[in-house]
Amino acid sequence: MRVAVIGGGWAGIAAAVELTSSGAAVTLYEAGRLLGGRARSLTVAERTLDNGQHILLGAYRDTLALMRQVGADPERLLDRRPLQVFDRTGFHLALPKWPAPVNLAWGLLTARGVGWREKLATAWWIQGLKTRRFRLEGDCTVAEWLNVAGQTGALRHHLWEPLCLAALNIPAGRASAQVFANVLRDSLGSPRRADTDLLLPRVALGELLPVPASRWLAANGATLRLGQRVTTISSTPDHVTIAGEPHDAAVLAVAPQHAATLWPDAGTNYEYEPIATVYLQFAAKTRLTFPLTKQSGQYGQWVVDRGHGLLACVLSGYGDWEMLADDRLAAALEEELTLAEKTVWSKVIREKRATFSCRPGIPRPDCATADPRVVLAGDYTWADYPATLEGAVRSGKRAARALLGMRYNPPS
Ligand SMILES: Cc1cc2nc3c(=O)[nH]c(=O)nc-3n(C[C@H](O)[C@H](O)[C@H](O)COP(=O)(O)OP(=O)(O)OC[C@H]3O[C@@H](n4cnc5c(N)ncnc54)[C@H](O)[C@@H]3O)c2cc1C
Repeated sequence: MRVAVIGGGWAGIAAAVELTSSGAAVTLYEAGRLLGGRARSLTVAERTLDNGQHILLGAYRDTLALMRQVGADPERLLDRRPLQVFDRTGFHLALPKWPAPVNLAWGLLTARGVGWREKLATAWWIQGLKTRRFRLEGDCTVAEWLNVAGQTGALRHHLWEPLCLAALNIPAGRASAQVFANVLRDSLGSPRRADTDLLLPRVALGELLPVPASRWLAANGATLRLGQRVTTISSTPDHVTIAGEPHDAAVLAVAPQHAATLWPDAGTNYEYEPIATVYLQFAAKTRLTFPLTKQSGQYGQWVVDRGHGLLACVLSGYGDWEMLADDRLAAALEEELTLAEKTVWSKVIREKRATFSCRPGIPRPDCATADPRVVLAGDYTWADYPATLEGAVRSGKRAARALLGMRYNPPS
C-alpha cells in the first residue's frame, strides 16, 4: 500500500512509523525543513532552542514507546522526577516514590499550606472521581466543576488551577472540565506510579523524536519530502493524488487551521491559545532547587531549568504579557525570578496558535472522513486529551491502523 502522510509533526511521525513498520510504502510531506511541527528545535544565535518548552508525563506511554521504536532512549533523554509543586507562598506538595495510590495520598496529606479539613475533603473527592472513572455527568468549565466539588481553597489556587493552565493551556474559567478530568485520570489518578512522574527533556526537542524518527524512516524505506507544502488533495475511487503523485491512501496530519483548508470536511473551526517561552541565560552555575518551579509572578507561570544556567519561563494562554515587547517581557521575568545573578542573554519565542482552545463541549473529529482513503490525525482529533504530544502520537497511530484495517487500543 502506498500511503501519503501530510504533516511531519508528532502525529504525522507516529503515523508514518506505524505504516512503515507494517510494510506500507510511505511518503511523508512536510512543509518545514525539518520534522517536529509545534514540538521542534530551532537555531537562534548559534544556540539550539525549542520552539516552546515542553513537559511530558510518565503517562505518555505511546510517546515513550514511539521514541524507543525509533532508537531514542527516554531514560537517557528525559529527566524523570516524581511530581512536586511549590511556590513562594509556602505551598508545597511532593509525591514520594511509593506505589500509587499511596504516593498521592501521602503527597496530599503532607502538603504544606493546606488545612486538614481541605486535605481530607480533597482525598474524598478524588476517591469519588476514581469510582466514577473520572466521567462527569456533563461538560462544564473547570472553574464550575471545582465550585460544585467544593474545591475552593488552597489546593484549587496552588494546584488545580495551575495544573489546568499547564495541561490545557487555557485558564480554569474557560477550560473543559471533562478533558481536565481525563488528564487527571491518566496521571494523578493512575494505578501506576510511573504515570504521575514529570519527564523533563534533557536535550533539544528534535533529539527526542523528530531527528531519530527521520533517520529511522529513511533507513526503513520511507520517502521524506521536506520543505514541500501540499496545496491540494484530490481523491478518486482509485487513488489519492498529492503533488502529482498517486497514493492508495493519505493521512492528513496537519494542525487544525491547515486541515480546514486542505480538507474542508475536517470540521475544525477552532479558536486558539498562545504560549510564550522566555529563555533567560544566566551564568552556567545557576540552578533551580527543583527543575520545574511555579513562578507566581504577574507574567510567568512555570520556569524550567534547562541546565548550564539556561532557564525557560512558560507563559500559557492569553494574558497581559502579549502587550510587552520581547526585551521588556524578558526583563519582567528576570525580575520575577529574583535570582542574585543577571541574565547574559535572552530570547522570547511566541507561538500564537500553540493549541486549540480546549473549551467545554467543542467538537473533536474522529480519524475517519467521508472518504475511506483519507484519514485525519493530529492532537485535535484525540478527543480524550487537550493538545498534547501524547494526543498527537496516539492520533497518528490510530489513523495508520485505521488504514491498515487494524484496531488501535490506547494504553490503559
Ligand atoms: C509552545 C508550545 C508548548 C507546548 N507545550 C506542551 C507540553 O508541555 N506538553 C505537551 O504534551 N504538549 C505541548 N504542546 C502541544 C504539542 O506541541 C502539540 O500538541 C503537538 O506538537 C501537535 O502535534 P501535531 O502533529 O498534531 O501537529 P503539528 O505539530 O502542528 O504538526 C503539523 C505539521 O504539518 C505541517 N504542515 C502544515 N500544513 C502543511 C501542508 N499543507 N503540507 C505539508 N505539511 C504541512 C506543519 O509544518 C507541521 O509540521 C505545546 C505546544 C506549543 C506550541
